Amino acid sequence: MTKATKILGLIGRAVDYSYSPLIHNTACQLLGLSYHYTVFNIADPCMIHDALLGAKALGIAGFNVTIPYKKTVVPFLDNLSGEAASIHAVNTIVNEQGRLIGHNTDIAGFAAPLLPYRESIRGKAVSICGAGGAALAAIEAFNRFFAPKEILLFVRDQQKASSLLEESGHDKSAPVTIVRLDDPAKIKECRVIVNATPIGTRGSNDSPLPLDRELLHPGQIVYDMVYNPLDTPLMRAAQLAGATTISGIEMLIGQAERSFTLWSGMQMPTTAVREALLQEIHGQQPR
Ligand code: NAP
Repeated sequence: MTKATKILGLIGRAVDYSYSPLIHNTACQLLGLSYHYTVFNIADPCMIHDALLGAKALGIAGFNVTIPYKKTVVPFLDNLSGEAASIHAVNTIVNEQGRLIGHNTDIAGFAAPLLPYRESIRGKAVSICGAGGAALAAIEAFNRFFAPKEILLFVRDQQKASSLLEESGHDKSAPVTIVRLDDPAKIKECRVIVNATPIGTRGSNDSPLPLDRELLHPGQIVYDMVYNPLDTPLMRAAQLAGATTISGIEMLIGQAERSFTLWSGMQMPTTAVREALLQEIHGQQPR
């Protein structure tokens, strides 16, 4: 690092596993930008305000924000983009001359790999398994870009999902129906199935699939937000069933590209970054 190096970082809790430093430091090195991206683990949510005040004082250039602080940071920011305001959640902060501006690049990052299928999604039902922060971004993306007939939210706790939606500030006119995960027959009629639960993540003890493989068929696009491992049990089952598959790595790169541009004003060299990321993930796969 030189004296003039600008600092970027990820705010989260126990997020040392994150690929964001690799993504952004690779991009900065390739473009010769003097940024360094690091990880800020914050254990206590009460410290978020202090952390952001400190960031202003120290002139930190920007942040990504992840679990569990995407909503926690909102009251301490000076302004929000339209997308961040739409779901009251921030995954990117830009320090604009001492004013911290919150953005949400998860929404467009989620939508990007689905855009080639836009016409085939319009007017059809789509489904999302899970109702956490990632599901909220997916709902907003479907609403903004794809005009589906219905968004079915498959969850294990309907009451919790309903409260989350209520508090999120998402567009109440969105055609969202909350369905129990153990009553998944309607998934068969969906053009897109999104896994927005951690099911399938390396090392997790949960059941390997969020839904019964019998529900999968070639007319579906199966989008697994989990990206480690790359070939999750759901991705493998979907491929076997002849469905189109989209890996969570596309969303990871999609949101990172947009954050990078917000901080640096430059386009991320995506092909080279993707290669570095795949190399890293493949290096972690058991042989
Ligand atoms: P979150 O806020 O913790 O929400 C997780 C959701 O999954 C909750 O609705 C939870 O239900 C549900 N869930 C967890 N375990 C389950 C199980 N065994 N069976 C059924 N439902 C289960 O997490 P998030 O931020 O939304 O993230 C969800 C996943 O997406 C994570 O794996 C995350 O890594 C991934 N993600 C990927 C990207 C990307 O760029 N590819 C971006 C964001 C997130 P309860 O509320 O009932 O616990």
